[in-house]
Amino acid sequence: MDSSTRSPGPTHHAACSAGNEASANRIVDVLSEIFDNDEVVAAAFERPGTSEWDISLYFESPPDQAAIRAVVAQVAGDEIAAALVFDTVEAKDWVKASLADLVPVNAGRFVVHGHHDRDRIAPNRLRIEIEAALAFGTGHHGTTRGCLMLLDLVLRQRTPERVLDLGTGTGVLAIAAAKALHRNILASDIDPRSVIVARENAALNGVGHYLEAIHAIGFGSPRFAQAGPFDLVFANILANPLRKLAAPMARHLAPSAFVILSGLLPPHARGVVAAYRGQGLRLVRRYDLDGWTSLLMQRIA
Ligand code: SAM
Repeated sequence: MDSSTRSPGPTHHAACSAGNEASANRIVDVLSEIFDNDEVVAAAFERPGTSEWDISLYFESPPDQAAIRAVVAQVAGDEIAAALVFDTVEAKDWVKASLADLVPVNAGRFVVHGHHDRDRIAPNRLRIEIEAALAFGTGHHGTTRGCLMLLDLVLRQRTPERVLDLGTGTGVLAIAAAKALHRNILASDIDPRSVIVARENAALNGVGHYLEAIHAIGFGSPRFAQAGPFDLVFANILANPLRKLAAPMARHLAPSAFVILSGLLPPHARGVVAAYRGQGLRLVRRYDLDGWTSLLMQRIA
C-alpha cells in the first residue's frame, strides 16, 4: 500500500507465490511484526480464479535480501523463500498520474472528486474536491472510502464537537468532517508536505478556516491535549502504528468518543481491535473494502 506520501524514485519490491492463504498471511504477519511499517509494507493477495496466494513486499530502502529470505524460509519453507523475486519499480507521481483517470467516489453522503468533475456532481452531495499532489487520500483507496462511510454512520447518530484527523494526507477526512459539521478540525501528519497539501485542499473546499493542520508524529504535540479531548478521531495509518497509538489515543478521548481506524489488512484487524479494547473501547462496525479493513470503535463511557 502506498501508505504515506512518497517522493518519486525507485521503490524496492519483492513478490512470490506463497502457497495457501494461511501461509501467505503468516509471512505477512511475521514480517509486519519484525519490521516497522516504515521499512517494509507486506500484503497477501489471492490470485484471481485460483486458490493460490501471492505476497507482495515494498521496502523503503534497498532490502537485505538474505535476511528477508531467511525470515520467509523460517515461516513458510525454503521453496517459497527461494521463489522470492526482488526488483525495483520505477515510482512516479502516482497521484498526479492517475488523477486524470479518476472518477468521482461516492461514500455515504460524501463524494470525492477531482477538478475535472467539478460540474458533474449532484448538488445534494457533500462534495470534497481533491487536487492531490504528493499526499495520500483521493477517496479511491478502500481505506479512505471506508473511513468516509464510517463517518457517515457516526453522523447519523451524533454531532461530534471536537474532531481529530491523525495522518491527514490530503486532508480528505478532515475536509469531510468540516463540511458536515461546520466545526474546527485538528489535522496532523508526520509528513510536513501533507500538512501543506491538507491546508491547500481545505482552502480549495471552502473550509480552510475550520482546519488547523500541524506537523506531529503520533500524539507528539501539546496541541492535541489543548484541542481535545476529542469526540471523534480518524487514524488511517497502518496496523503497527495504530496498535502503538492505542494508549495515547485513549488519553485524548472524551467519554463515548468514536474512533475510526483504517489502513489495516484483514488479518491485522483482530490485533488492532484487541489493542483498543484494552484501552476501554468497543468495536461498533467493521467494513472490508478492496482488501482493506476499516473499524469504528467507541469508548465505553
Ligand atoms: N487520512 C488520509 C486518508 O484517509 O486518505 C490519508 C491516510 S494515509 C494512508 C496515512 C497518512 O498518515 C500519511 O499521510 C502519513 O504521512 C501519515 N502518518 C503515518 N504515520 C503517522 C504517524 N505516526 N503520525 C502522524 N501521521 C502519520
